Amino acid sequence: MFSEFECIENADLKEFSTIKIGGRAKWIVFPKNHLELKKILQICEKNALKLKILGNGSNILFSDAGFDGALVNLKYFNKISILEKSQNESLVQVGAGINLFALNIRLGMLGLSGLEFSYGIPASLGGFIYMNGGCFGHEVCEIVSSVLAMDYDGNLKVIEKDDCGFDYRTSNLEKYIILGAKMRLKHKKSEFILKNMLSFLEKKKNSQPCDMPSLGSVFKIVRSNPPIYPAKIIDNLGLKGVKIGMAEVSAKHAGFIVNLGGAKACDVLALIELLEEKLKSVGVVVEREIVLF
Ligand SMILES: Cc1cc2nc3c(=O)[nH]c(=O)nc-3n(C[C@H](O)[C@H](O)[C@H](O)COP(=O)(O)OP(=O)(O)OC[C@H]3O[C@@H](n4cnc5c(N)ncnc54)[C@H](O)[C@@H]3O)c2cc1C
Repeated sequence: MFSEFECIENADLKEFSTIKIGGRAKWIVFPKNHLELKKILQICEKNALKLKILGNGSNILFSDAGFDGALVNLKYFNKISILEKSQNESLVQVGAGINLFALNIRLGMLGLSGLEFSYGIPASLGGFIYMNGGCFGHEVCEIVSSVLAMDYDGNLKVIEKDDCGFDYRTSNLEKYIILGAKMRLKHKKSEFILKNMLSFLEKKKNSQPCDMPSLGSVFKIVRSNPPIYPAKIIDNLGLKGVKIGMAEVSAKHAGFIVNLGGAKACDVLALIELLEEKLKSVGVVVEREIVLF
């Protein structure tokens, strides 16, 4: 069905999620440009085939049963170009498929500052914008000026930042495929940026199980006044290290569930449900940050 495009048939989803869990996907398709993407959308529509966008898989728990449709990955949408340059800052266009490790290194080398806080997060830029990802008091929407997107009918659209509905770990971009973004970045010395990146990475490594397969924080912070941190409550409840199958509440960070090797999606889900129940029993209702495919 997708022979004219780069694609993998019957793909092992474990290879496409940072928690290394999942069955098989009928197809993963890698369009090279927006015209190919449009054709892929048309093929899915014509054949009533399910379609979802796959970024770096750092927030997706794939089902053990797999995905009976086409996942579209934008790894070829990876260009970086400087559109405008003033004395203090530049407006940069970046493709959605580039991963944040590579993007941070490239921006650091170009002397462009603003995204360093994200160094160490294994996401694609598109997924990060879709979730309005962030950490250490920063969110990606701070530097996004507009988003280039395609709707599911194949129409291209530029969405200004104010119309993206950015809020804590959310946006209103679910009707779109994010192809890229314009970002405003400050001019700084490369050495300063690289130092900044490394200090953020160090902080992450010290507090999170970065060396274990996971999906990052399972739950969102509860935005009450004061905010409630689910990881802290889970820790206080003595649930660090609790296991179902080979899925474990990380002993290093109670907000993470890690795969000890061979965990199933059903183990992770059962563990999530257990945590939700325990949190509810002390009056804390949480929202999941991870998504289920
Ligand atoms: C070790 C670790 C640390 C983490 N730390 C953080 C952190 O500090 N802060 C944070 O915010 N998150 C963190 N995360 C979670 C995760 O990296 C983010 O949620 C990230 O935004 C997901 O990006 P992705 O490219 O992997 O998206 P995926 O997981 O592939 O997809 C997530 C969702 O975004 C959609 N999506 C992806 N790309 C696009 C696109 N181009 N257009 C439209 N929709 C798209 C998908 O369809 C899906 O619904 C962490 C995860 C791990 C594993």
